[in-house]
Amino acid sequence: RKVPPTTINQIEDHRPQEWHHPQLGQENATFVILARNYEYKDLAQTLRQLETRFNHKYHYPYTFLSDEPFSEEFKEWTSLAVSSKVQYGLIPREQWDPPSNINLTLADELGRKLQANGAIYGDRIPYKNMCRFNSGYFFRHELVQKYRYYWRVEPSVNFFCDLNFDPFTYMREHDKTYSFTISLKEFENTIPTLWNTTKEFMAEYPELIARDNAMAFLSNDGGDTYNLCHFWSNFEIADMEFWRSETYMKWFNFLDMKGGFYYERWGDAPVHSIAAALLLPRSRIHFFNEIGYKHSPFEHCPQGDVHEKGRCSCKQEHNFDNDWYSCTARFHSLFSLF
Ligand code: GDP
Ligand code: MN
Repeated sequence: RKVPPTTINQIEDHRPQEWHHPQLGQENATFVILARNYEYKDLAQTLRQLETRFNHKYHYPYTFLSDEPFSEEFKEWTSLAVSSKVQYGLIPREQWDPPSNINLTLADELGRKLQANGAIYGDRIPYKNMCRFNSGYFFRHELVQKYRYYWRVEPSVNFFCDLNFDPFTYMREHDKTYSFTISLKEFENTIPTLWNTTKEFMAEYPELIARDNAMAFLSNDGGDTYNLCHFWSNFEIADMEFWRSETYMKWFNFLDMKGGFYYERWGDAPVHSIAAALLLPRSRIHFFNEIGYKHSPFEHCPQGDVHEKGRCSCKQEHNFDNDWYSCTARFHSLFSLF
């Protein structure tokens, strides 16, 4: 591989003067958006929803990240869509490319087999780089480092409801570390050895496992097997102090050494979810019912009063929460079981 070029982080601003609002939200927080240049239009549509439903009142800044320099077009479309400061960061190659312990020939070979077995994105190295970056690096990126909380956003997702409070403040005041809107079951063929690796980790570091953890969310048999439940990480509001902690770093490095980000296709969703469920007391995980959200093909649509209060534009019948493929009911039962 080529020697990585030095990182150039562009902080630019295309906003019209009347949109230069001071940040009103009181929290040390940013939106974090990993995206490719060609996604500028889908992203602009998402950003307009996020602004209309929430950020036009708070003006939290946006941090856009990519492994390639952002185009002028991308910067224009995204900055014109928002009412707050924007920053555009290039991801350094050493946070993105496969690490030196990975045998790329083997990764290719196994990736092709994975794909043939129906594992979605099984043979796509850029996708795997993305999953590993989201698992272990985004919170260490120089533009993100100064913030404590983030809200992850992807191109094309929808926000359906007015958010009449600041979710970052909610997280801080209620001592929440990780939050979600949609949970579901993972494709098993993307993570054949992840659960055995998790069990190895628990055996090696029993002191890192939280006493009041959410193992019952992940396993129906006390930890013997994985039920594939995870929080869908295309939406996340979370406290990066957790990702930056020694405990989480041990988990990430343990996984990274096993090679499963490349020899299999471990996603950042199960990696984050297993960490949140086992390394945190379960009371630190929060379900944001008020945030109507869709990442195709699944959506969370609030019901009843909450739908009305949020002036939600989703159909209540389309709510995925109680689908057999969702794990959200299981999450709720965690708090009645004990
Ligand atoms: P899916 O939701 O799992 O199907 O994956 P996506 O294609 O939506 O990718 C997840 C997120 O990572 C999105 O925000 C993408 O824009 C971003 N992403 C995926 N691959 C790349 C990549 O190679 N480079 C960059 N810069 N962003 C990527
Ligand atoms: Mn996506």
